[in-house]
Amino acid sequence: MFFSEIQKLDQQYIAHTYKRMNLDVAAGSGATCTDDAGREYIDFSAGIGVNSIGFTNPAWVEAVKGQIDQLAHISNLYHTKPQIALAKALCERTGMKRVFFANSGAEANEGALKTARKYSSDKYSHERYEIITLVNSFHGRTIATLAATGQDSFHANFGPFPPGFAYAKANDLVDLESKVTEKTCAIFIECIQGEGGVIPLEPGFVKGVEKLCTEKDLLLMVDEVQTGVGRTGRFLCCEHYGIKPDVVTLAKGLGGGLPIGAVLFGEKTQDTLGPGDHGSTFGGNPIVCAGGNAVMESIDGKFLDDVADKGAYIAEKVKAMPGVTGVTGKGLMLGIALEDGLASGQLAADCIAGGLIILTAKEKLRLLPPLTISKAEIDKGLAVLEKVLAAAVKQKQLAQADSGKD
Ligand SMILES: *Cc1c(COP(=O)(O)O)cnc(C)c1O
Repeated sequence: MFFSEIQKLDQQYIAHTYKRMNLDVAAGSGATCTDDAGREYIDFSAGIGVNSIGFTNPAWVEAVKGQIDQLAHISNLYHTKPQIALAKALCERTGMKRVFFANSGAEANEGALKTARKYSSDKYSHERYEIITLVNSFHGRTIATLAATGQDSFHANFGPFPPGFAYAKANDLVDLESKVTEKTCAIFIECIQGEGGVIPLEPGFVKGVEKLCTEKDLLLMVDEVQTGVGRTGRFLCCEHYGIKPDVVTLAKGLGGGLPIGAVLFGEKTQDTLGPGDHGSTFGGNPIVCAGGNAVMESIDGKFLDDVADKGAYIAEKVKAMPGVTGVTGKGLMLGIALEDGLASGQLAADCIAGGLIILTAKEKLRLLPPLTISKAEIDKGLAVLEKVLAAAVKQKQLAQADSGKD
């Protein structure tokens, strides 16, 4: 099938909820993939941070295939080894106490929101239900996680939303404290706002959030759906900030390419949800967990140091490129701020034409490459990016010179 036919069928049969790029991906290995015509691309996206150990990672493929041969699914009414092993690995890695498995980031966050309300209604009253999130946050696309998302643009057309959310300005403790009332039960943050534009929170603010939570017995909940599982050079991004959350949510990179979400409960919240309070038909599926176990086994101390080093290397190179005004983020979660007049969406499309898959986050370019990306792949991808940026800057200058003549 030619690409033009695929596009036509896509237009006809797929709901138009995505602005698709001009690319169909057919196969991949490491951080390199090919389209149906056999053309190669370097992948700086990992499918939005999902393929954390690369395309067709041999250990991952072996684990998943082995599990398929044994048992594809059994409900959560029964025990399976891959699920227990993944929960144990996550708790040992993070110091959290128990895990609930879901299938996506939004679902993991739904679990966190329910936990906050249950904790507070058990201990205080049903009137203590409000959850504070941050302006410019992103927590998912279900009705409740949209309500939690602190961006008005996501709220148009889908109301009414469930009540019980308040929004505080990031990095503004005074504003945050002013939003805390006798109704508040939790504060829910991303340590680096991902979809919001790869914006790290300030360490002093995050410490202040933790202190406020401790003083008022509010749950400190951290959405690590994008930042977690080694993405920032630590297993959890909140480790950079030295905080101990009561609830952490994970998803994207955890399954290495299979759909998974996880809610990690700390000491305070480990017994909050009991039998019947929450559940999922597919959550913690053995195949998905086998993939997750392969991811967890890959991530040792050296692996995380490499993520930090590769991120620092990329950031330094990118900072020196034309049209770039700054680089934000940590490890292999990077945002590239651009000169006025350079459009991130157009640049991402140009990169694809040049053989590089790259993401955007609002007005920035965004990099979430596989954590296992090689130095050679990084250099190849950066070369495409530099060429695309140089061409765009030159075109912008020509256009400006032209308009100057009139
Ligand atoms: C992607 C993302 C989500 C939503 O995850 P889905 O798997 O798409 O439901 C939630 N929170 C953050 C921080 C994310 O980056």
